[in-house]
Amino acid sequence: MTTESQVRQEPSLLTTLEDLGLRKTSARYAVTSRIENGSDAFTAEELCRQLPEVGRATVYRTIRHLVDAGALCKLPILDGAPMYSIARVEHHHHTICSKCGAVGEFRHSTVERVMRSLAKEIDGQITGHKMEIFITCNSCLASESDSSSDA
Ligand SMILES: [Zn+2]
Ligand SMILES: [Zn+2]
Ligand SMILES: [Zn+2]
Repeated sequence: MTTESQVRQEPSLLTTLEDLGLRKTSARYAVTSRIENGSDAFTAEELCRQLPEVGRATVYRTIRHLVDAGALCKLPILDGAPMYSIARVEHHHHTICSKCGAVGEFRHSTVERVMRSLAKEIDGQITGHKMEIFITCNSCLASESDSSSDA
């Protein structure tokens, strides 16, 4: 890992699109830089609203390319549209705050071991797995205890 340039400036998503053979267009640039500079997790609709100058189809297609390439994670949300977040490490799982939607990434060797041992009990060959843990994040917990003195 080289960290010599500015913290939040890696042009990684646009590079990912180029690696897929897609040309750098101003629309793709707008979508990828919006994702890289935006909040942790977002829905496709939010991205469309933030980018009125980019066609909806382009936004959706760009997201799908990035998910397929593994650069974005698609997070199933219990109620509502799926959210997306930038994949910062290779294989990982997520914590999702069900109050504010903050997304965290974690890796845990025990989880991976359990998944591997499950292979014996599952018919067919496992090709991958996902795991999301829904939480109330610490800052939501803190604001809850601020506002309610007795519960
Ligand atoms: Zn992720
Ligand atoms: Zn939260
Ligand atoms: Zn895993």
